[in-house]
Amino acid sequence: MYDYLVVGSGLYGAIFAHEAKASGKSVLVVEKRPNIAGNVYTEKREGIQVHRYGAHIFHTNNKKVWDYITGFAEFNRFTNSPVANYKGELYSLPFNMYTFNKMWGVVTPEEAQAKIEEQRKEIIGEPKNLEEQAISLVGRDIYEKLIKGYTEKQWGRDCKDLPAFIIKRLPVRLTFDNNYFNALYQGIPMGGYTKMVENLLEGIEVRLNTDYLENKKELDALAKKVVYTGPIDAYFDYELGYLEYRSVRFETETLDKPNFQGNAAVNYTDKETPWTRIIEHKWFEFGKDENGEELPKTIISREYSSEWKPGEEPYYPVNNEKNVALYARYKEMAEKENKVIFGGRLGEYKYYDMDQVILAALERCEKEFNQIK
Ligand code: FAD
Repeated sequence: MYDYLVVGSGLYGAIFAHEAKASGKSVLVVEKRPNIAGNVYTEKREGIQVHRYGAHIFHTNNKKVWDYITGFAEFNRFTNSPVANYKGELYSLPFNMYTFNKMWGVVTPEEAQAKIEEQRKEIIGEPKNLEEQAISLVGRDIYEKLIKGYTEKQWGRDCKDLPAFIIKRLPVRLTFDNNYFNALYQGIPMGGYTKMVENLLEGIEVRLNTDYLENKKELDALAKKVVYTGPIDAYFDYELGYLEYRSVRFETETLDKPNFQGNAAVNYTDKETPWTRIIEHKWFEFGKDENGEELPKTIISREYSSEWKPGEEPYYPVNNEKNVALYARYKEMAEKENKVIFGGRLGEYKYYDMDQVILAALERCEKEFNQIK
C-alpha cells in the first residue's frame, strides 16, 4: 500500500511526488503518456531540445519558486524577446520604443506617447468589442498591424465579434526594453525540462503508459490517497458535460541550415499567414549544444490555433461563463472525493504558468506534509 498515488508526471505531480518522498511517504506515479514531464516535455533532436507541447519559457517574480526549482536544474540566461512579422515588416514585442520608431519614425518617448494618444481618441465612450477596446488602449496602427490578425487567428473569430474584456490592458513601454516578461527571474533549464522533471522524480517509482482512469479500481486499491492532475471532467466521466479548451496544432520540421529566423519566437500578426507563431527551438539555448558547439541544423515548429474537440489534447481552458459555471459544479463533486486531491492545470481547469503551478503544488504540499523537507 502506497501513501500516495500521483496521477500525472507534469510539474504538479512531480513536485507533489518529490515532496511526499522527502517527507518519508511512499509514492507511486502513473503517467498515461510514454514519457514523463507533462506539457513541459522536451526531447533532444539534432542536438536541440525540442519543446514538444509548445515553447516553454520559465519566468517568475517569486523568489521562493525560483529558489525551489533551481534546486533541480541550472537555468540559462534566455530572455524572451519575440518579434512580430506583419507582411514582412518586423516589429519588436512587447510594444516599445523600437516598435514605435519602426511604426511611425518617432524618436522620443514624448513623440510616441503623443501618437498613441492621438489615435486612441478615435473611440468615444465604452468600447463595445475587442477591436474598439484595443484601439482605445493603443490606437489603430498598432491594432491593425500587431493585434488584429493574430487575435483573430487565435480565437477563430473577427475582433468585432469578440468581447472587449478579453483584452484588459496592453502594456506599452516607452523604453527600448525588449524583455517580454520583465520578470525578476527568467530562463530555460539547461539540458531540457525533461531532465529537470527526472531530477524531481529521482528515486520514485513511475509507471509510464498507464492510464489511471482505465485502471482506476486496481490503482485505487494500491494507495491511501490519490493526487489527480488529469482533466477533472474526465475523472467524473464527463457526467455534467465537457469542459472546453482552445487548441494548438504544431507542425515541426528539421531544416538543413543553421539559422531560419534568428530568434526563438516570431509571431505572424497578419491574417493571411495561417500560423500564429514560428518557434525556432535552438535559440532557447543560443544555438549551441551542451559543449558550446554551434549546431549545423535547426528545428522549427509552426503553431496553428484551432478549435478543440473532445478527445484531443487539452491546451488552454476557455474561461467563459459557461465553462466557469460547469467547472464550479465539477469542483463541488471533487470536494466530496475525500481520498483525492485535484491539482494542476487540468485538475483545476485553470491556465497556470509554470511558476504558478509550482507554487500551487508547494502550497498543497505544505498543507499535506506540514512542512517542505
Ligand atoms: P501537465 O503538464 O499537463 O501534466 C498533467 C499530466 O497528467 C500529463 O503528463 C498527462 O499525460 C497526465 N495525465 C492526464 N490524465 C491522466 C490519466 N488519466 N492517467 C495518467 N496520467 C494522466 N508556462 C510558462 O510558465 N511559460 C510558458 O512559456 C508556457 N508556455 C505554454 C505553452 C502552451 C502551448 C501551454 C498549453 C502551456 C504553457 N505554459 C507555460 C503552462 C505550462 O504548460 C503549465 O503550467 C504546466 O505544464 C502545468 O503542469 P501540470 O502538471 O498542471 O499539467
